[in-house]
Amino acid sequence: MKAVDTHRRPIKDLRISVTDRCNYRCTYCMPLDEYTWIERAGVLSFEEITRLVGLFVHLGVEKVRLTGGEPLVRKDLEKLIARLTLLDGIRDLSLTTNGALLAEKAAILKAAGLRRINVSLDTLNAEKFKQITQRGNLEDVLAGVFAAQSAGLAPVKLNAVIIRGVNDDEILDLVEFARKNRFEMRFIEYMDVGNTNSWSLEKTVTKREIFQTIDARYSLREVGRQDGRAPAVDYQFVDGGGEIGIIGSVTEPFCCSCTRVRLTADGKFVTCLFAEQGYDLKALLRGGATDEQVCQAITGIWAKRDDRYSDVRWQTIQSGGYQAKARKKIEMITLGG
Ligand code: SAM
Ligand code: SF4
Ligand code: SF4
Repeated sequence: MKAVDTHRRPIKDLRISVTDRCNYRCTYCMPLDEYTWIERAGVLSFEEITRLVGLFVHLGVEKVRLTGGEPLVRKDLEKLIARLTLLDGIRDLSLTTNGALLAEKAAILKAAGLRRINVSLDTLNAEKFKQITQRGNLEDVLAGVFAAQSAGLAPVKLNAVIIRGVNDDEILDLVEFARKNRFEMRFIEYMDVGNTNSWSLEKTVTKREIFQTIDARYSLREVGRQDGRAPAVDYQFVDGGGEIGIIGSVTEPFCCSCTRVRLTADGKFVTCLFAEQGYDLKALLRGGATDEQVCQAITGIWAKRDDRYSDVRWQTIQSGGYQAKARKKIEMITLGG
């Protein structure tokens, strides 16, 4: 039973928010002190997540990413990883973390079966790091990325959201840090996720600007999108210094190849990063639904999927009418970035 949506996009990639809690309050993601948190009893257990992942794999998912909130604040996350590695059909299992707890967790995650990891690192300036994350320490994250490398997680990709006037002066510093230490940088255009950041188009440093800044110093050759559908366009350094990726979600949207589905920590199935609501799979699981009934619910929802928010946003921006706050979106911490 394989489903395609109204634009003939199959389900291929699953992002799971294992918790909506986070030990940071990044200004571009969840700047407020408090949110309405998912209550603990409502959070999917590892058994429930594993069962759902198995069903999604049956429906075509090949790649699974664990995220949040901050996934490493979920107790015993390695036990979930160990369970997921036993499922047939997952070609790629990855994790996105802010790195705060990675130094102590990297070897445990690797032993549980994780192969690769993405760590958010927006700046190499300790003061700026504090301002952006509101709570974090740069040193902890740097210790984390090196611990991940020593533990054998490969590749270690570093995600940086580039914001004009905040860290756009550090693009080359980040590139050089990654080249020197054999990490892979992933630059991300700043997006209007959730409802609480103070996004404006002027603050988004475009994919093109990021490319030009890097290419002027280290010539780049385009490799393309992994599997033809990954959010990042990959580039190689012509001098053999490794790879980078740039994600142009705002100015070069890629909805036409979007095969991503998201699962919130409380079991909502969400078909777009900018969705207003999800579909409650937990209620089905806890109500005793069979695997077949859950699969039917998923394929039924997917078959009606019409999402192409970023395409429409870019068209609307260009015609001058985009209102970022017009839609009440699910917060990114709930959705899984
Ligand atoms: N807490 C983990 C972390 O920070 O890596 C995982 C969750 S976080 C929501 C996942 C990714 O979303 C991170 O790489 C983060 O930089 C990115 N992100 C958050 N807010 C963003 C925004 N407004 N625009 C672009 N990317 C954003
Ligand atoms: Fe937390 Fe990650 Fe969002 Fe920062 S980007 S607030 S670390 S979930
Ligand atoms: Fe996919 Fe929605 Fe992002 Fe478009 S806006 S790429 S449909 S998640």
